[in-house]
Amino acid sequence: MGGGGCGVKRGRSGKRAAAPRYLSLRADTLMGMFRRLPARARTQALAALAQATAEAGGDSARRYAATGARDAAVLLAKIEATAAELGWGEWQFGKRSATRLALEVRDSPFAAGYGAADIEVCAPIAGMLQAVAGMVLDTPCEARETACRARGATRCRFEAIAGRRRC
Ligand SMILES: [Zn+2]
Repeated sequence: MGGGGCGVKRGRSGKRAAAPRYLSLRADTLMGMFRRLPARARTQALAALAQATAEAGGDSARRYAATGARDAAVLLAKIEATAAELGWGEWQFGKRSATRLALEVRDSPFAAGYGAADIEVCAPIAGMLQAVAGMVLDTPCEARETACRARGATRCRFEAIAGRRRC
């Protein structure tokens, strides 16, 4: 996830880093891949996608912060707006404490793309929350989805807890 911007920027290493590329992919195509995997491989693949999103999402979140969204509330509002722009559903950050950040998402494209499931499937959102929570709470954290529309919930719910894992 991340905002627009073009051209070439310098990465943290000082090397010239190309701006991230985005692609449009039908949600049911992406999530259909997970649906086709055996259960154990599916769980592993969703976890891998969450971690990959946490890494890349952290990079995006740092870029937002660098453009002036240093205040936590401003950064979270920017993330909510960007999620909507990217078609990642209607995000609403909830309760925030020194050790926890909650998020609710209406109309997750990942849940819609997967269809009925017996597990939470919105791994990219969990990954992005993990990255954002790491910045906002200023400590390593872990995020998970606690309710998923694919499992019959009215909306998807996520929570990030500080102190469990390096974001
Ligand atoms: Zn979900």
